[in-house]
Amino acid sequence: MAKQQTFADKAMKAAMRLGKKCQVCGTIKQPILFVSSEPSKHGSIRFNHQRIQVCKCNEKEVYA
Ligand SMILES: [Zn+2]
Repeated sequence: MAKQQTFADKAMKAAMRLGKKCQVCGTIKQPILFVSSEPSKHGSIRFNHQRIQVCKCNEKEVYA
């Protein structure tokens, strides 16, 4: 017997692939590439690339 997949199951699996659900706000955390710049000692600017997970808890800080 074939196992039937409900839409909720599929949606949940898709969400799992995209990111983890935040325990605090319940939204799916979206991985984004966050670029911050900081001046280096030699007068040039250094760019830091980091992957961060964004949910409702920190989206205001990230997109500010
Ligand atoms: Zn959150």
